[in-house]
Amino acid sequence: MSAIRIKSPREIELMRQAGKIAAAARSLARELATPGVTTQEINKKVHEFITKSGAVPSFLNYGGFPASICISVNDEVIHGIPGKRRIQNGDIVSLDVGARYKGFHGDCAGSFIAGEGSQEAKRLIEVTRQSFFEGIKYARQGYRVSDISQAIQEYVESQGFSLVRDFVGHGIGEKLHEAPEVPNFVTPGRRGPRLVQGMTLAIEPMVNAGGVAVRILGDNWTVVTTDGSLSAHYENTVLITDGEPEILTMAEDL
Ligand code: MG
Repeated sequence: MSAIRIKSPREIELMRQAGKIAAAARSLARELATPGVTTQEINKKVHEFITKSGAVPSFLNYGGFPASICISVNDEVIHGIPGKRRIQNGDIVSLDVGARYKGFHGDCAGSFIAGEGSQEAKRLIEVTRQSFFEGIKYARQGYRVSDISQAIQEYVESQGFSLVRDFVGHGIGEKLHEAPEVPNFVTPGRRGPRLVQGMTLAIEPMVNAGGVAVRILGDNWTVVTTDGSLSAHYENTVLITDGEPEILTMAEDL
């Protein structure tokens, strides 16, 4: 992978604005994701919101992806394509959305329950969200990317869930996916790059209630758990500073 790009103060300001739009789009999608709604209806409204905000949906046409938001339900992990599927009461709905504003991307995701969910679904979602916050305790100068990965992995595995290994977080900026990779697990003997002020990372644990294995459906996008178990996702774009990390895609309801 290419070198890690450190952002200038001007670039960081644009990323804050991109992050705000992406976060607001995620909040909108969350409000819309109620039983009876189709995923394409959510996509349409999110698309309109992003474009009216003066931004471009990061995912639309990215590698040929045909929509402005990924909506992955239940055993779908990531990259679900919006369509005619109607959300059911109790579904886990994972919403992943990105916005590019004046050349810079913000990327964020979250899993939510439509209507009334099971205890297992609620716990899976809460552990996934919390693992992000465990990880960013190490999103500080002096630590390494692998310290973030380790904190996420230890927490999730201590709760009896497993982390997807086939997909990872990433640097983000002028490109949606930049160096470095941000895995949600550690590889013995391999330490990630050192964190430096001005790095921007999309940290995104993908957590399965069952095994780690995933496969891609015939649409060539949708990633599902091989064992059919539930999955959840949580992501924010994070800026490394000289102190506390700054979450560029934070919203009050998340
Ligand atoms: Mg991402």
